Amino acid sequence: MPEKYHIQTKPIPPRRPRIGKYGIVDWREDCCRCHNCVKKACVYDRHREEAGYIHDMKDVDALFFDCMGCFSCVQNCTKALLSLEVNPIYEALGNSYWTPDIIQTTWMQAETAKIPVSGAGYRGPFSGPGFDSMWTDMSEIVRPTRDGIHGREYISTSVDLGRKRPFLAFEGQALMDSDGPLVSLPMPLIIDMASPDHTLPELDPLFRETAARTGLIAIMDSCAWPFAETYLPHVAFHLHPDGPELPRDVLNQTRLIELPDGPDVLKRIAAIKKDCPHLVVSIKVMLGAGGSQRAIELANLPAIEMLHIAADPNGNEIGVSQPRFIKDILRETHVALIESGTRDQVTLMSSGGIALAEHMAKAIICGADLVAMSLPLMIALECQLCHSCEPGMHCPAQLESINTAYGVGRMTNLVSAWHDQLVEVMGAMGMREARRLRGDVGRGMFFKELEEDTFGKLFGTRK
Ligand code: SF4
Ligand code: SF4
Ligand code: SF4
Repeated sequence: MPEKYHIQTKPIPPRRPRIGKYGIVDWREDCCRCHNCVKKACVYDRHREEAGYIHDMKDVDALFFDCMGCFSCVQNCTKALLSLEVNPIYEALGNSYWTPDIIQTTWMQAETAKIPVSGAGYRGPFSGPGFDSMWTDMSEIVRPTRDGIHGREYISTSVDLGRKRPFLAFEGQALMDSDGPLVSLPMPLIIDMASPDHTLPELDPLFRETAARTGLIAIMDSCAWPFAETYLPHVAFHLHPDGPELPRDVLNQTRLIELPDGPDVLKRIAAIKKDCPHLVVSIKVMLGAGGSQRAIELANLPAIEMLHIAADPNGNEIGVSQPRFIKDILRETHVALIESGTRDQVTLMSSGGIALAEHMAKAIICGADLVAMSLPLMIALECQLCHSCEPGMHCPAQLESINTAYGVGRMTNLVSAWHDQLVEVMGAMGMREARRLRGDVGRGMFFKELEEDTFGKLFGTRK
């Protein structure tokens, strides 16, 4: 059995006061000093922690909002003096896609490296837009895959990047390798370049170090060169047409390279392959108007090894009046490639809208081989996704003064928590290989299809 993929983690507490969702307001003047005050019964000991917090408080505008919202003390106070309040700063975090709940759960995973557990069941809506309009089918919880989670067997999350053969080929009795280079990653995740709205060049060294620690690859703008050569096996350069030319010995130490799509993209692939045949070349297609058709057209060309289809940070098509979500584009692209008989040859990576570990699994079910993301790693550093974020502006998370142990540790914790969640969800789906999950829509349930099947005959198709 191959060695199991395992990421070393350790808890790394936040540098800033926690921005939690709930706090308790306490009207003390009517308190009758009960012998068994309900505050002592808080199973999370939050009232005692709050007293300590106020004693050492540094920021007067950072009140204690770390209550778990169980309502126990609120309901049982003999004089009804306690009330649960929602933190207005918490509600202002992020945006309509990167919700406060997503940001908070990412902070928690970056701190503890643990799978988030709500503890009181799921309290959100039944369905929603984007990835919330599909569910993973967890009805296959069977022993072999549960054993995979608990260590007696192995659930493989590794994926291969590059162009593969459409069928097995043998030389005598031996199975032949693929014609071109392949890159193997231990999980279906790549660290993407930061989005233009949230770009902090000082984070690039942290992305590289995190990629090296987790065995992944970080995509870096070619302008970021030079840096320590030890990172090169974990870096994929994104080559801008007008960027600096990278020395051949530098490219020889990397395994993957990314080109932006353009009219001369085939010529550029041929030039790279001539000099560095060991590199897997990925083409980045931005999902603007006609982007999905362009992706399908490229994927059918024999020179294309890998495609990176990139939506905006919220997972939508870019600059389109009625944008579609990345999951629908992935399904369309995947099906088109199956129909043309080329799906197994080309590797499909998607980015945009990947905010939670479950989105990684859902994107794979919809047809991606792997996903790329960077915003969750920034959020791991206590980033609040402010609306204006530029170098030199005031950063409430103080990312300009971050140290490597804290930054890399929290990013590594998050990657580890995502890996554990992928293994959990695959175990519950009865899946033992991430490669087999790709495009397996039988492991997903789609709200639109379920609604149509159930109510379509009665009420017609939803407009
Ligand atoms: S239970 Fe309520 S009234 Fe009694 S001591 Fe506690 S806060 Fe005061
Ligand atoms: S609501 Fe629950 S978690 Fe919050 S302070 Fe009261 S008992 Fe503790
Ligand atoms: S917290 Fe800092 S890095 Fe994050 S969005 Fe705000 S300014 Fe940018």
